[in-house]
Amino acid sequence: MFRTIQVKLPFENSLVETAVAFNKACQIVVNYGSQHKIHNKDKLNKATYRQVREAIPNFPSALVQTARDQASEMLKRTNYAKIVKKRLSVRYDNRTFKFYPETNHVSLTTVQGRLNFPFNHYSYLDTWKGAYTNAQLIIRKKQALLNVQVDVPDVEVKATGKVLGIDRGVLNVAVCSDNTFFDSKHSRAVKGRYRYLRRRLQHVGTRSAHRKLQRLSGRERRFVLNINHCISKAIVNKPCDVFALEKLRITRTKENGKRFNRLLGSWSPNELERFIDYKAESRGKLVLLVNPYKTSQRCSKCGFVHRWNRHALDFHCGSCGFSLNADLNASRNIEMLGKAEHLRLCVNQPIVVSDEALPTDNGDDSYKPCLSRHSS
Ligand SMILES: [Zn+2]
Repeated sequence: MFRTIQVKLPFENSLVETAVAFNKACQIVVNYGSQHKIHNKDKLNKATYRQVREAIPNFPSALVQTARDQASEMLKRTNYAKIVKKRLSVRYDNRTFKFYPETNHVSLTTVQGRLNFPFNHYSYLDTWKGAYTNAQLIIRKKQALLNVQVDVPDVEVKATGKVLGIDRGVLNVAVCSDNTFFDSKHSRAVKGRYRYLRRRLQHVGTRSAHRKLQRLSGRERRFVLNINHCISKAIVNKPCDVFALEKLRITRTKENGKRFNRLLGSWSPNELERFIDYKAESRGKLVLLVNPYKTSQRCSKCGFVHRWNRHALDFHCGSCGFSLNADLNASRNIEMLGKAEHLRLCVNQPIVVSDEALPTDNGDDSYKPCLSRHSS
């Protein structure tokens, strides 16, 4: 599995000059490629290598090649659009950088030759060890950051098969089938405060108000990020090996209404899913995505499905009279689907529609369950 570790390097001229030269080299290749509609790396290299070396004489040859690779990918991605690379960044491969976490330094190829840069030691440098395959230097806001990709050996998947169903929602960020609730009361209050501040600052409209707004946006983003990290960590540390989540698709349409769309906009279930997935992977646990069809209308006790079973936050079964919190009921249904799905994977049968696990009144035959992690 691949992990990215970020270290902060000293903000030195050599790094900034390298990043500026890299952008310039990249731009020359992008301009040529978009003009001649070429994205093939070989052809681009033959056509532009000499031009780049002449334009930037002190730019190392190995970096010319990584710049050309990046330009080729940009051309392919944007379908030969004439783009301008603004973000100051440099791509390094195993020829142009070497990472030494034991002695806390990194050696990088720059326009001033090969140089060593120190960085502070972080505890995750000890846990994520492996082959350091490539890196990206980012120059931003008077900071030099290096993202290093590490190929960490895979953790063996445990298969005791204890499944935890997780229901994600707007009011409750996550509800687990073992009766754990993670509500969004605090985060909604903080987001509301930011929204109010934002509205007031937008009304003021001065330059300093604009600067303040930019600072605020980053702070709010980091707040949400932290909450999702905390919740996902608490979930994957539970004594379960398989986590079942719904396969969600969020659609913001006009019919939803402004208020509901705003709630949806500030909701980040996909980010939570991504965090749960990678944290589970490093602990040798599995994440399964199941069909969300009627999970909130089905009784987790008797299996009766009806849309009147659910009354806002409460669930009340029209057949057996079972009552429960609606999200908790849904999470128990998800757990059941997860168990069926896990069993199916264990016996290693070809993929078939697994809706027989859910006695619904109308099976969605187009749905095929899938593993969220493709490598396992
Ligand atoms: Zn029932």
